[in-house]
Amino acid sequence: MQIEDQQRTKIVATIGPASDSYDNLLELVKVGVNVFRLNFSHGKHEDHLKVINRINYINEKYNLHIGILCDLQGPKLRVGQMEGDGLPIAQGDILTFTNEECIGTKDKIYMSYEKFAEDVQVGEKVLVDDGKIVLQVVETNKVDTVRLEVKHGGILSSRKGVNLPNTNITLPSMTEKDERDLEFILGQNIHWIALSFVRKAKDVKELIKKIRDKGHPAKVIAKIEKPEAIKNIKSIIKASNGIMVARGDLGIEVPMEKLPLIQKDIIKRCIQRARPVIVATQMMDSMITSPSPTRAEITDVANAVLDGADAVMLSGETSVGKHPLLVVKAMNKIIAEAEKFYNSPHTPKANEKSRTFLSDVICFNAGKTSDEIKAKAIIGMTSSGYTAFKVSSCRPKANIYIFSDQQYMLSILNLVWGVKCFYYDKFTSTDETITDVTEILKNAGEIKVGETIVNTGSMPLHQRYRTNMLKITTVE
Ligand code: PGA
Ligand code: MN
Repeated sequence: MQIEDQQRTKIVATIGPASDSYDNLLELVKVGVNVFRLNFSHGKHEDHLKVINRINYINEKYNLHIGILCDLQGPKLRVGQMEGDGLPIAQGDILTFTNEECIGTKDKIYMSYEKFAEDVQVGEKVLVDDGKIVLQVVETNKVDTVRLEVKHGGILSSRKGVNLPNTNITLPSMTEKDERDLEFILGQNIHWIALSFVRKAKDVKELIKKIRDKGHPAKVIAKIEKPEAIKNIKSIIKASNGIMVARGDLGIEVPMEKLPLIQKDIIKRCIQRARPVIVATQMMDSMITSPSPTRAEITDVANAVLDGADAVMLSGETSVGKHPLLVVKAMNKIIAEAEKFYNSPHTPKANEKSRTFLSDVICFNAGKTSDEIKAKAIIGMTSSGYTAFKVSSCRPKANIYIFSDQQYMLSILNLVWGVKCFYYDKFTSTDETITDVTEILKNAGEIKVGETIVNTGSMPLHQRYRTNMLKITTVE
């Protein structure tokens, strides 16, 4: 099977009716998708299951390591069902929100947040339908009813999302729906689980514990889309295995002009901590209907690459859009061009106090050395993924090839900047392994005779220590 040239920056594509058939998934893989995202805000478990099985089948059949990212909805707020085709509301109107389920009318509108009246304060903003409708709280009885003045009107239609940027929301980080979704997800062969509307590190830690308790190897991504998460960003990044800059909700919850610098700041922090970071939402939005992107979108994707993001994500573009293949192809081209000019400003430094200090020094020096000697490749072995995350965070010029005997780990690592994954399960001796993996890469056309390569590994091999060896070789 012919796969389009793979770039260092990875592509995450959300699956939906426009892309969920076996043929569509396969075509998307061929044009460069590295990770598929299943959005648990939509769809039934049986439909998600079909997609998961199709992707895993493609992985087996073509010996690939496409990642599967399951995205939990989290405590997303919505209005209930509305009367007719929606309620036209105008500036100055007074609306009443209640926590009792009802069909929404001019008199009463249901919102899916039991303690809304209790938690909200007079004067706080309530944004509906991606911020298109702006309301302000004028009164709350602190029990079940809130009165709001319309600041910016429109048509208020059924089940639209609600954002409360200023409110201290007391909902748990996972809803009952999330718990049910998680239970289903933990029965599947998937690689990443994202949690929406993370507010603090504890939200992430609790999810990680639930996953561990079930003995599932999936890693966790915190979606940053609340002002509270920005405030706690340091501890959230530390607690998470990866981060998503979820610009859709984030752009409603914080002043929109702050987005570009928040994106840059989060990416920088993630690279420093060796956590993969995804830039998400509206990257190629106009291609939901149009066959080519806008100039602003082209520049947005290129800028995410130049910021050093591990991955760029497509949502509606591939889930419900008209041109899923064209959009991935276009994205791939933009990435390839931008990467020619990407120079990481980041020089990782191992922390002496860290338990992993010595292996960090090896990983970081693999990156540094490869740049210095203009090596063609850094080749690492991993079972925990650790070496791959760390070497990638150096953003070296050399290609990064990671070998592991853990299939699921290879799919986890497929999200990570620059990492190309290979299965390898012979562990006789370090010398033999280095010869073997070099042969594998030579045969795959990835490296050539005369090129310099950097190997990392662990000696003696059978002990499976952390990475403790760095070696420079010329390919023979
Ligand atoms: P969503 O998350 O698509 O699940 O809302 C991404 C975002 O908010 O940007
Ligand atoms: Mn969101």
